[in-house]
Amino acid sequence: MINIIFLGAPGSGKGTQATIIAKDLFIPTISTGEILRNEVAKDNEIGKLAKIYMESGGLVPDKIVVEMIKSRISMPDCNNGFILDGFPRNIVQGQILDDMLDSIDRKINAVIEIIVADEIIIKRISGRFSCKNCGMVYNHFFNLPKLINTCDKCGGVNFENRSDDNLEIVSNRLKTYHNNNRELVEFYRKKHLLSSIDGLKEIPLVNYEIRKVLNIHNKN
Ligand code: AMP
Repeated sequence: MINIIFLGAPGSGKGTQATIIAKDLFIPTISTGEILRNEVAKDNEIGKLAKIYMESGGLVPDKIVVEMIKSRISMPDCNNGFILDGFPRNIVQGQILDDMLDSIDRKINAVIEIIVADEIIIKRISGRFSCKNCGMVYNHFFNLPKLINTCDKCGGVNFENRSDDNLEIVSNRLKTYHNNNRELVEFYRKKHLLSSIDGLKEIPLVNYEIRKVLNIHNKN
C-alpha cells in the first residue's frame, strides 16, 4: 500500500502528474478541488457555501474538506493506497490527516512538491482557453491553434475561458497557496517525507523525476 501527497501551486501540473502516477499504481487520485466543483455543480448546501470561497481564490473551511476526505479515504478503492491532490492545503489539515490515518493504522509514505515560478503559473492559467465545441485546451502564451481562431481538432471557431482562470482569482489563489504552503512543506520535510521536483520541464520529464523519487520503474 502506498499513500502519496502531491503539493504544488494551482497550475503547477500536480493534478496531471498525480493522475499519471495513480493510473500506473492502480490507486485513485483524490482531488478536493474536483470534489468541491462537483458539489458546486449540484448546487446543494455545501456547494453553495464552497462556491463563495472558491470564487474568491481563498480556502473552503477545513471542517468541510476534512469531512470529504474522511469519507473518500474510507471507500474500498483506497484499500491499496491513494494519491491526494490539493489536500492538505494548510498545517491544520496536515495534522488532522495524520491523526485520521493513525486511527486506521495507515500513514503517508511520500510527499511530492512540484515547484513552478509564479510568473509561469500566471501565464499557464490566465492564458488558458478552450474550444467551446470539443473542449480542446489552448494557451495564449504557449499553445495557440495553428490557424488563428480555429480549433485544430474540430475546426470550431468559438472559444471560452474557465470562470476561475481570470488574473485576479489566479493571483489570489497563488497568494493563498504561498501563505499556507511554507509551513506545510516544513512539516513534511521534518518527517523526511518531502521531495521537491522542478515542474518547469515537459510533462514526461517531470514524470520521470517523480518516478525516480517514488522508485517506480518507467514503462517506456
Ligand atoms: P484546486 O482545483 O485544487 O485548485 O481547488 C480549487 C479551489 O477549491 C481552491 O481554490 C479552494 O478554494 C478549494 N479547495 C480545494 N482543496 C481545498 C482544501 N484542501 N482546503 C480548502 N479549500 C480547498
